[in-house]
This record gives sequence, structure tokens and C-alpha cells, in this order.
Amino acid sequence: MPQTLLIRNKRFPLLKIRNPVTTSIYSPQPPLGKVYLVGAGPGDPGLITLRGKYLLEHAEVVVYDYLANTKLLSYVPPTAQFIYAGKKGGGLHAFTQDGINKLLVEHAKQGKMVVRLKGGDPFIFGRGAEEIEELVSEGIEFEVVPGVTSATAAATYAGIPITHREYTASVAFVTGHEDPTKKFSNISWEKLATGAGTIVIYMGIKTLPSITKKLIDFGRSPDTPVAVVRWASTPQQRSVVGTLATICEVVQQADIRPPALVIVGEVVKLRKTIDWFEKRPLFGKRMVVTRTREQASDLVAKLEENGAECLEYSTIHIEPVDDYRVLDQSIDHIEDYQWLLFTSLNAVTYFFQRLYRLGRDSRSLAGPKIAVVGRATAEELLKYGIKADLIPEKFTGEGLADALVRSRVEGNRILLPRALRASELLPEALTDAGATVTIAPAYQNVPPQGRKDELREQLQSGSINLVTFTSSSTVTNFLTMVDAGSAEELHQLLDKVTIAAIGPVTAETIRKHGLHVDIQPQRYTINDMVHAIVAHYREKAAQPNG
Ligand code: SAH
Repeated sequence: MPQTLLIRNKRFPLLKIRNPVTTSIYSPQPPLGKVYLVGAGPGDPGLITLRGKYLLEHAEVVVYDYLANTKLLSYVPPTAQFIYAGKKGGGLHAFTQDGINKLLVEHAKQGKMVVRLKGGDPFIFGRGAEEIEELVSEGIEFEVVPGVTSATAAATYAGIPITHREYTASVAFVTGHEDPTKKFSNISWEKLATGAGTIVIYMGIKTLPSITKKLIDFGRSPDTPVAVVRWASTPQQRSVVGTLATICEVVQQADIRPPALVIVGEVVKLRKTIDWFEKRPLFGKRMVVTRTREQASDLVAKLEENGAECLEYSTIHIEPVDDYRVLDQSIDHIEDYQWLLFTSLNAVTYFFQRLYRLGRDSRSLAGPKIAVVGRATAEELLKYGIKADLIPEKFTGEGLADALVRSRVEGNRILLPRALRASELLPEALTDAGATVTIAPAYQNVPPQGRKDELREQLQSGSINLVTFTSSSTVTNFLTMVDAGSAEELHQLLDKVTIAAIGPVTAETIRKHGLHVDIQPQRYTINDMVHAIVAHYREKAAQPNG
């Protein structure tokens, strides 16, 4: 006698299941997912389309290529599944093309939103169509998002306009690596040699000798300028220039390997004038940025704009403190204070969080005068509708102490919300001047775990040119991360590394650990620090052996 079970829920208003343990007359299939073929662009993560970024932000599964910059994966929710599909010239394939096609189908059938992230543009030598054919045959929905193809990126970033009214009115994109199973070439080199003004060849490094020979044999002048660009639009970009007659030797001498593009045509001459990417002052320099995760992006963006490659280590992690009693009580009696001081952006953020939590807002701050350590903190404060009454000339705790003492604080009550552990210089100077200072812990700096080994390896291999420090705690936390066994080992690791400190207090902390400070701006701002770093490298480049 079959049992009958009645199920009622939102999705299936009434389900009858007979013999629930063994048979069900209705087994719901999940709806099919969708696959998005997204062009990742040529390498610089800034060159993905907005549509591509949006899809990454909503992906449940990401299948990505060797040529797609892994920095783009930071847009993907951490709960998603990440699958590296490999594919690198020379047979190091993590998956066969067939395997990739099956992978996409399999995940889409589980109802997943799958992003297939492909280098450059999916439809330019990207085998995008082959993946789609498989999806179509399985009845799976798809969308294709174009990307900046590496040919245009390589040309642009090498300072070569691929068209120009005076030199060429046509461009051909060609592969130098045709399907090896094909008997005859689809490329009509005979027509191409003189038929297209500019010829851009993908995957043409290994076959460069035969390509250049064919072009010359079929009538292109051996003097035609040729450029080869490797890892275009990334900090590793390298370009070399020659002619059809000489380029093979140039490439061999410079040891240029794939991935690289070959650009043939008169337009290559314009590189002399237009080259901009590799000429930026910090190009080719690898720098460690040691800041809090929240504050790193400004410095990184400015260094990168000048051409540097930045390795971000969030050596400090900002967390709330366990005990807010002092801060809460001070806020409750805020009208009793003559001064409220902010010595960091984080102090502003956490102070207002607490103020709001206590049911108050900026109007409670009408009483005390407000002083900040520097311009950035003043700008942060303005976001809460409050203009600082005092910004010292020198943007340091000492500068702030001097300015306050000069304004006479004797008998004043001063509230200082700040990090749990911080320098005592400011409160001591104010107390000495006759003020009563309440130190209210608002947040704490915690050194994070992980990525230690990576940092040590990079330092050991000598691949880091410069380390930046923007506060004393970035120094101490960086040293904790490096975890050198002895002072000697620390020196060895940092001996050849240029060290930049934002201001004198940070520099002092660096020196206290027996290390050298090479760059220190006159004013203690991120902008000035970047200018000082740029000036340092300009000077070095101007030296005869620089
Ligand atoms: N769909 C891709 C091309 C894939 S074929 C696109 O649209 O760009 C792979 C070839 O592209 C490489 O062998 C190389 O010739 C070229 N390539 C891709 N990215 C490159 C880069 N950043 N710099 C130079 N060449 C690149």
C-alpha cells in the first residue's frame, strides 16, 4: 500500500509524493544557469568593461584563463567557485578545450551563473565560438561581453597608433599559430604582405622567422618597421623594435617570449614620439605598500599612475576595541571639553560610529573646539559636516601639540579618541602645558596573518625595489610580517631596497630598527610622498650609471 505525503510550500503549492522514501512523482529540476563569456581585456585590470565587472560581481562560478589578470578575481564574491582553466602555449594546458566546454555545461546545468573570463576579446583568437557551440547544443543560455583585444592594447601601450592617415588605412589581425592539424594555411600571406597597411600577429613569436620571410618574399620591404610587445598593458610590458629583416635577431637577443604581439607597418615609427607607458617615471619598479586595507588605495593608485607595480600588504588591520566605556562616557559629557582632537582618519570614523550609536549626531559637537593632525583628517571630518578649528603647519602629533600649546590649553579639558596603542608624545605635551587629557581608545591596529611567506620570498629574490611606510605602526607591523631571525638577516633582506617614510616620526621608527631611510618628503602627505619617490627615480635615471 503506497504511502502518500502531502507537502505544501511556497514553491510547490501542493506536492503529492507517493512512497516518499523510494519514489517521488515529482522531482524538481533546478532551472538551468547561464554562461557569460567575458573579455577580461589585455592585462591591465582597469581595461575590463563595466558589464564584465558587473558580471564578475555576481558570479557563482568563474572559469578563468592564463591571460586573464587574476586581480580581476577580487570582484568575485568569495563564496563563488574559482576554476583555473589554464592554457599556456607549449602544451601546459590545465584543461583541454573539450574539458573546458564540458565544465561550462556541467556548472550551468546545476543552475549556476557561470562567468567564463577570457583574455582580451573572447571572439578574437579566443575560441569563444567553440565554447558557445557546446552551450547551444545543450540548450544553455549565454551572453558574450567583448573585451579590449591585446592587439590594440599592445599598440596603444607601446605608443603605436595602428592606423594613421599618412601611413596606413587598413589593419589585419592574423594568427601566427594556425591549428596544427590543418593541412593548408588559411592565411593568404601573398595577399596580406602588401594588402594590409598594418599587420598585427598574435601568437607569432615561435614562427616569427617564417612569418617575416614570407612577408619579405611576397613583396613587403625588408626595411618595414616591426615592433614586438610582450605582456602589454602590465607592469611587465617589454617592447623591442626592428625591421622585417632584423626583428628575429632583436627578439632573440632580448629573449622575448610569448605572450607577445608582432606589429608590422610604417606606424611603428611613431613610437619614437608617442611612447608613453614605458616612459612613466616609476615604470619597471616594484613597490611594497604597507598601509591599512582601508587607506591603501590612494597611495597605490598614485604610484601606479606613475608606472610602479604595487604589492599591497595590509600589514595593519583596523578593529574596534573591546571596551568603549571611556569613549562613551566622554561623549555623554562632551560639553565639558574645550578641545576634541583627531590624530587619524580611523579616529574620526570610529568616533562618529560611537556618537551615532549613542543616539547623538554632529550637533553634539557644537561645544568643544576641534583640532586635527593634518589635511586628510580635516577632509574626513568635513564628511560629517564639521570644519576643523585647528590644523597644525606640521602634520604630526608633535606639530599638533606645539600648535595647541601655543593656543594656551592650561586648565583645558581635552578629549583624544585614538588607537588603543599609540605614541604618548601628544598627551604628555598637553599635560605638561597644564591641560587634562582624556585618552579614549576608539580602535586598534592588529597585524593580520598570511602572505608572510610571499613577502619574504619577494625580498629574498631581490625583486622589490622600494618599500613605503606611512606611519610608525606600518613599520612595526611590516617587521613582524618579515619576521627576520636577527638584525643581520633584516639588513640583508632590506639592504638593496629603497625605503620611503612619510614623515620624521615614521623615519625615526625605521632608523630605530637599524634601517636606512632614503626618501622622505618635506610635507607629510601621500601626494608629497609620491612626488618625492618620483623625484628620487628621476634623479637616479639622470645619473650616468642610473
Ligand atoms: N583573445 C585574446 C587573444 C588570445 S590568443 C585577445 O583578444 O587578445 C593569445 C595571444 O594573444 C598571445 O599568444 C599573444 O600573442 C596575445 N596576447 C594576449 N595578451 C597579451 C598581452 N598582454 N601582451 C601581448 N600579447 C598578448
